[in-house]
Amino acid sequence: MDDLLPIDEARELVLSAVRPLAAEEVPLGEALGRVLAEDVRSPLDVPPFDSSAMDGYALVAGPAGQLRVIGEARAGSPSPERVEPGAAVRISTGAALPAGADSVVPVERTEPTDAAVRVPGTAPGDNVRRAGEDVREGDVVLRSGEPLGPAEVGVLASLGRPAVSCAARPRVVLLVTGDELTEPGEPLPPGGIFSSNGYALAALVAGAGARLLRRETVRDTAEDTRAAIEGALEDADVICVSGGVSVGPHDHVKGALRELGLEERFWGVRLKPGKPTWFGARGQKLAFGLPGNPVSAMVTFQLFARPALRAMQGAPPDAERATAILDEPVRRNERREQALRVRLRPDSDGWHAVTTGAQGSHVLTSMLGAGGLALIPAGHGELGAGERVQVELL
Ligand code: AMP
Ligand code: MG
Repeated sequence: MDDLLPIDEARELVLSAVRPLAAEEVPLGEALGRVLAEDVRSPLDVPPFDSSAMDGYALVAGPAGQLRVIGEARAGSPSPERVEPGAAVRISTGAALPAGADSVVPVERTEPTDAAVRVPGTAPGDNVRRAGEDVREGDVVLRSGEPLGPAEVGVLASLGRPAVSCAARPRVVLLVTGDELTEPGEPLPPGGIFSSNGYALAALVAGAGARLLRRETVRDTAEDTRAAIEGALEDADVICVSGGVSVGPHDHVKGALRELGLEERFWGVRLKPGKPTWFGARGQKLAFGLPGNPVSAMVTFQLFARPALRAMQGAPPDAERATAILDEPVRRNERREQALRVRLRPDSDGWHAVTTGAQGSHVLTSMLGAGGLALIPAGHGELGAGERVQVELL
């Protein structure tokens, strides 16, 4: 394990093993968090017709005066009347502008009398929303590879789409190894610890838009490890194993993965925390051997497994990065790049970062409140307060 890979090279090896998954039709109500697999062109203008932006009166623009009120246009119920100079139609927000009218005066600026209304002067287009102001018929509104958030889902609905083509979600099996692991809710035996990786990694899997098929705890024997991986290979696109990947006598993961035909693409990354990370592939199926230490497991998932899951869905694989100013000095590691958990704070000169506290790979609370991973290049001495660093946003 002497020739450790730089993070970026490891990530490239992961991405070069990824094949995008097929697309499937997804009802719009289930599309949140999915990745679009088609270019979406609008079949109509949005709004579809000229309409009123205010509750008020639709009229022909002109000087102030007294107008006859000849009808009403409500949202969903257009007025059949044609508006001539000297007349007005009472109108609600969102109602179609009646024929002949070219402007709307808000009700607050009018003085209604019996069958008439006094209005101020208006100009054509006042308080009118034009057809197609939001989207023009034929425009490409969203492109393949776009992740669907609340706004995208809303826009798709505004185009009348009941369903969209999305990338299939990668199927993930999580195998959490360790004889010491106890499920939350069970009594903690001597020497036991509560297993956190299964939960934290399951949440990260969901956050990456992937589908967790199951989460299994695996005992530290070669047979159990092999059987669990063999089972996972049956239905998973991606297998994430946590723990047991190092070189101890009870670490069986690498051996089992290799025996089962997963071809090693890398083993060992020049990263702290997260050095003992293994990645391999068998055909289209990918396997990650993530370190057992809870912070290392989360960090290596974020840096290596998440990009694979995003790329399989045709989405941009890389998390967003920002530059931040360190508000405290940090010690560099001579050999490895560090992924420090930092709290981020905006200021007039940009983002500022402070570490979340002790940074040991077992200190899972260092992930609490971490807005990003500050990537500290290997080197001697310290990076001083005030230095700028790259931060991968979480
Ligand atoms: P390993 O990589 O199996 O040598 O595990 C490294 C460290 O991570 C050990 O202290 C384990 O007890 C701990 N660890 C492994 N798996 C988990 C887990 N699921 N939850 C919490 N800690 C774990
Ligand atoms: Mg272990």
